[in-house]
Amino acid sequence: MKDRSYEATGRKKRKFGRGSRWCRRCGDYTAVIQKYDLNICRRCFREVAPQLGFRKNR
Ligand SMILES: [Zn+2]
Repeated sequence: MKDRSYEATGRKKRKFGRGSRWCRRCGDYTAVIQKYDLNICRRCFREVAPQLGFRKNR
């Protein structure tokens, strides 16, 4: 689904909470990380993080 407009997805309009934002990488609505202005879900974050300079806490 490329089009993420409310008309295309048919979801409710929300300013916050689930459905208000989505992963810009895979389009998932759950666990979207807004920190650092990423706007990607936690799964994508795990894949992208190393490229962004994030390291695993070890
Ligand atoms: Zn994602």
